[in-house]
Amino acid sequence: MNFNGVNFDTYFKSYPDNNGYFGKYGGAYVSPELKKAMEEIAESYFTICKSAKFINELRRIRKDFQGRPTPISHLERLSNKLGNVQIYVKREDLNHTGAHKLNHCMGEALLAKYMGKKKVIAETGAGQHGVALATAAAYFGLECDIYMGSVDIKKQAPNVARMKILGANVVEVTHGLATLKEAVDAAFDAYCREYKDAIYCIGSVVGPHPFPMMVRDFQSVVGIEAREQFLEMTGELPDAVVACVGGGSNAMGMFSGFLNDPVDIYGVEPLGRGTQLGDHAASLQYGEEGIMHGFNSIMLKDENGEPAPVYSVASGLDYPSSGPEHAFLHDIGRVKYDVVNDDETIDAFFELSRLEGIIPAIESSHAVAYAVKLAKKMGKGSILVCLSGRGDKDMDYIIEKYGIR
Ligand SMILES: *Cc1c(COP(=O)(O)O)cnc(C)c1O
Repeated sequence: MNFNGVNFDTYFKSYPDNNGYFGKYGGAYVSPELKKAMEEIAESYFTICKSAKFINELRRIRKDFQGRPTPISHLERLSNKLGNVQIYVKREDLNHTGAHKLNHCMGEALLAKYMGKKKVIAETGAGQHGVALATAAAYFGLECDIYMGSVDIKKQAPNVARMKILGANVVEVTHGLATLKEAVDAAFDAYCREYKDAIYCIGSVVGPHPFPMMVRDFQSVVGIEAREQFLEMTGELPDAVVACVGGGSNAMGMFSGFLNDPVDIYGVEPLGRGTQLGDHAASLQYGEEGIMHGFNSIMLKDENGEPAPVYSVASGLDYPSSGPEHAFLHDIGRVKYDVVNDDETIDAFFELSRLEGIIPAIESSHAVAYAVKLAKKMGKGSILVCLSGRGDKDMDYIIEKYGIR
């Protein structure tokens, strides 16, 4: 399929290009030292990901450890309530550890093992990436250093405990605002010192090349499974596919299964409290081109051109940019990016729980909320939503802030 000059028959071979660009987005804007380390990872990945041994081991892990394939569920009661549009969800909440993040963490840790590395390094904000990576490190017997701001360590005590129980070393970052940005810097610094023995594991389709590509590839299992399952279940392709976008990994995984199909694809960003800068994290909707964290993409900037403060009710979505591939798919119009706010999201959270017996993560509730709006607009047809994770981690916050409805 050709779309605005891009040939999607050969898309995955051509995007990203050899330097990690999706059109003008992507690349590797890092120090010469780190650049060398990134090139080593890219080279190893290109060789290892084609070996039958690696592919088979990853397949076995997906099945025996992660519990894949995760099913697709038809949301009959919600669909009936909305009218004639049938809504389906891909159940990444049933993936081991309760979200899609383990899909790329297992891939990254397996790559570390094949590259002969002893340690994985990452930063974490809300702690979800840290827990997924600590899980993968425990599975492979790798050391694991997770950098985390002291403010986040206090806020996310249960996830800090999980990481420690899994054997990870949680390194407290105290400088600056002591949140995610400082943790990213500290993890990059550590990686610069330790790259001979360690590999840096990014938590989404962001960061310098080759990470946006590798994380997409590892997450593509979601879209590949979902396409096959949907065809088997209904005999057709869905009319629309929907996923929430923070950094964009669950969305890229899901979308990659459908880019070459006559299917409308929607990425949903968090509008938070409103359209003012600082009240949302809808970077593709309101951002502009810029470089941060080692890659060129569309980002939210403050008056000094630095990454702007962002907010979302879902801590996994409050990132001031999105992966370069999303910026590219946005520009060519293959994927439509839209927003839902906190209130619509929380309504969807309770509605899905009550009508279907699925308590979704607040991140995933954004995608469900959008599907509800889209269903009303479409009037007929089918929507497949990526339910990126389960809501157990959000219980305390929901009860405190919204009570039980
Ligand atoms: C982290 C997280 C997200 C956001 O990350 P993406 O890279 O945008 O997918 C979405 N949903 C859940 C459940 C998460 O834990």
